[in-house]
Amino acid sequence: MTTNATGAGMGAGGPHEGGGGGMHPGSGPSGSRGSDDWVERVRAATDIVELIGERVPLRRVGRNFMGRCPFHEEKTPSFSVNAERQFYHCFSCKVGGDVFKFVQETEKVGFLEAVELLSRRAGIPVPERRAGERGKRAGILEALDAAATAYEQWLGDPEMGAAARAYLERRGIARETQRSFRLGIAPAGWEGLVSRLRGRYSDEVLLEARLAGRKEGGRSTFDWFRNRLMVPLIAPGGAVLGFGARAFGDEQPKYLNSPESSVYHKGQFLFALEQARKFVKPEGEMVVVEGYFDAIAMHQAGIRHTVATSGTALTAEHARTLKRMVRGVALTYDGDAAGQQAMLRSLGVLLAEGLDVVVVDLPAGEDPDSLVRGAGADGWSRLRDSAYDAVEFVHRHMLRTSGEPGRTPGSGDPRERALHVVVRLLAGVTETIRHRLLVERASQVFGLSEGVIARAARQATVAGDRVPEPVSTAVRAQRRGESELERRLLRGLWQAPELLDEARAELRPEDLEDAGARALAGWWWEHGVALPEGDGEAAALARELASTTREQDPSAEVLGTIRRLVVRRLQRELRARRTGLAAASGESAERLMQEIQDIARTLQKLST
Ligand SMILES: [Zn+2]
Repeated sequence: MTTNATGAGMGAGGPHEGGGGGMHPGSGPSGSRGSDDWVERVRAATDIVELIGERVPLRRVGRNFMGRCPFHEEKTPSFSVNAERQFYHCFSCKVGGDVFKFVQETEKVGFLEAVELLSRRAGIPVPERRAGERGKRAGILEALDAAATAYEQWLGDPEMGAAARAYLERRGIARETQRSFRLGIAPAGWEGLVSRLRGRYSDEVLLEARLAGRKEGGRSTFDWFRNRLMVPLIAPGGAVLGFGARAFGDEQPKYLNSPESSVYHKGQFLFALEQARKFVKPEGEMVVVEGYFDAIAMHQAGIRHTVATSGTALTAEHARTLKRMVRGVALTYDGDAAGQQAMLRSLGVLLAEGLDVVVVDLPAGEDPDSLVRGAGADGWSRLRDSAYDAVEFVHRHMLRTSGEPGRTPGSGDPRERALHVVVRLLAGVTETIRHRLLVERASQVFGLSEGVIARAARQATVAGDRVPEPVSTAVRAQRRGESELERRLLRGLWQAPELLDEARAELRPEDLEDAGARALAGWWWEHGVALPEGDGEAAALARELASTTREQDPSAEVLGTIRRLVVRRLQRELRARRTGLAAASGESAERLMQEIQDIARTLQKLST
């Protein structure tokens, strides 16, 4: 695909970055309509002050016009529009360009669509594509659009569409939502669509559009999708690139996607981007979910900055598309083992492309669809406010899943593996500031020095899948230190059991990290200090503690270790809230700040 130069007419040294980079799959053929003549006529007919003035109140200041930048949040205007040279520039966030660039950025479209939009605005006819030059691609896109229209009409058909409409109603998808996503049905027969489209499009086009199939060696074509609920895969700008098809009965497979074609590439396509792009700001975030119906439900619930991947983990191309529109991404995560590797991969890809990432952890058994249907947009924002940052997510996730049955046991300590994953994420991040922030965050979450983590990240870039040495060593040393503290508490309690109530009041067994110590504390907290029956972890540790020599002053030892363990827990709680605060807003931010103050005050008291 050729990319048109948009720089023409810009003075040297102007803020323009060169346009056309935002071309997306729906842009259509570019050569024929992209004639310089037409582009220049449109440019000449468009006044930049008037165009931008429709969106941003502008005030004349000397020879320029000033206003508040539409690309970043600001109180003092630093956005300038130059009428003479017909360009805009923001002195704060450094965006800038000409009329086409402005439309590309604000409407989130490619260069040609920006020219078309302004062309219509100025009343200049969009040049007809000359006969014979109508690309194959255009024919495929037209056929796909015609198919989407046919599917939509069949869904509305009183008889044919009845079962599907009932299904959609059960799922709570309103008629309005169905229309805006152009939902439809493919009829049950073999020829419904092909016989409808045959007169207008050649078999070749229908085959290439993946709307029809043909038996090997056979001559006649048949419908690719039959008896399914059809979800058009719509590119920004409105072009239909393919379909997702869901069985609304018990047919297998439940989901069927258009195969890759010359227009549909699942590694590039983001579902609902066409709808979502109008609702995102450059400094904002995009929610990424996994299923089409999850995205549709989110939009219907009013969470419109939501897109879905299309049967694949996020790719670098997806990430770059998102990066052009938003600063950050909120990934939703529904905890099942299958999604876990994909999630970790997606995290790495997004971070490497320079996006902020948080992970919204859905309650067990929920997906975004069921969540917003049950709890609405408020339910979503509560979860969003308690989302994890990337480092915290990996840490929690690895610890949580390490003991679950059915998981690959993996080697070694879950914390060590979690740190290994984080270090590998870090190794992919080249941007210095982001890298430093992540190292800092990993240092907080894992309680290791920033130096150890940075060194491990450097090693990981060359070490491949091996756990870098500094990680193993540091984690082992840390674990020895922490489990030593926990053992000292339990040994002290064995020798001074009258302090059990004291310990019980301040600590929960879950506050202990070592599995054996946690098990023994759990038993003691419930049954009192004694030797547990059997030969489990708790019993083994109790026997070991019972055989150690008596402390000089076991009571002082117990009280001292309780205090240190309480401090450790509070420091963790503080860190978690500080992380949460970075992503929270409104009421939940206020609540977090209050809690941070309270915890900090308690910590202060404990250390004096
Ligand atoms: Zn700005």
